[in-house]
Amino acid sequence: MTEPIFQRLTLIGMGLIGSSLSRRAKQSGAIAREVVACDLSADACERVRLLGIAHHVEPDAALAVQGADGVVLCVPVGVLGEVAARIMPHLAPGAILSDVGSTKQSMLREIEPILRRDVALVPGHPLAGTEYSGPDAGFSTLFENRWCLLTPPDGTDRGAVARIGAMWVACGARVREMDAAHHDRVLAIVSHLPHLLAFTICGTADDLADETRGEVLEFAASGFRDFTRIAASDPVMWRDIFLNNREALLEMLARFTEDAQAMARAIRWGDDAFIVDKIERGRAIRRSLIELNQA
Ligand code: NAP
Repeated sequence: MTEPIFQRLTLIGMGLIGSSLSRRAKQSGAIAREVVACDLSADACERVRLLGIAHHVEPDAALAVQGADGVVLCVPVGVLGEVAARIMPHLAPGAILSDVGSTKQSMLREIEPILRRDVALVPGHPLAGTEYSGPDAGFSTLFENRWCLLTPPDGTDRGAVARIGAMWVACGARVREMDAAHHDRVLAIVSHLPHLLAFTICGTADDLADETRGEVLEFAASGFRDFTRIAASDPVMWRDIFLNNREALLEMLARFTEDAQAMARAIRWGDDAFIVDKIERGRAIRRSLIELNQA
């Protein structure tokens, strides 16, 4: 059998993403000889032990990374810097440090200044997820046929980038490299703004008078129901994403607000061609997603 990509892979944060990666790595054998799971929460560690989805469970991050040639941070983006600072002195020389965080410039801002010269940093972001969190929410096929974006800073060791890429390919994902700033702009429109809209629309519905609110829940048509699924996502994770991708998200929100105003104007003045054109463009995007197998 060919050698696995890592001898010892440590995953810090055993939520939806960390536990999915752990399950896949433990099942496949091609990713790592040993998988070490670490989480701040004693409950999460206990669940990982009971589920048997890692070879070892170590709650102390400094101990968990010892001897690991690969470390992936799977914690909310708001604590990435703090966790990286905690483990940095304990990383093995030559180790590769990666993450799965949804914002990439903030990650580089936090970690590059404290990065050891003998450690390679390969930031990553798998575009896969559900509205559930915690170790029980994960599943080994989560990343299949999904993209994983890597944003290595200039000068990163190419061998390290190739190994993190190979790890995601072994999870069934497709890998693409891009610049961190570009990543944050793209994700602001395809993921962060839709979540902002979902949280806002659910908040608006909840603010309505009691009687109407009851009816919103009782008669929720598919449009509102789809928003509630997105709005069920983890509050800590999404607070951190909004605050760590502030510039790109506010820029996309400003553009969206202008476009929404244009739609409002078309409705007010009965501009049916404008309205139909917008709806046609939405339908075309949906068809393209289905054709690309991303629906
Ligand atoms: P999650 O299910 O909430 O899991 C995060 C885990 O990290 C929790 O078990 C949490 O423990 C633990 N944690 C928090 N602070 C920690 C620390 N200082 N040290 C060790 N463990 C710590 O979240 P997730 O959905 O897996 O998201 C994890 C990362 O993946 C985030 O950066 C997110 O941006 C990214 N991501 C998420 C998705 C998605 O759709 N969910 C998709 C792509 C990328 P507690 O529960 O005790 O806080």
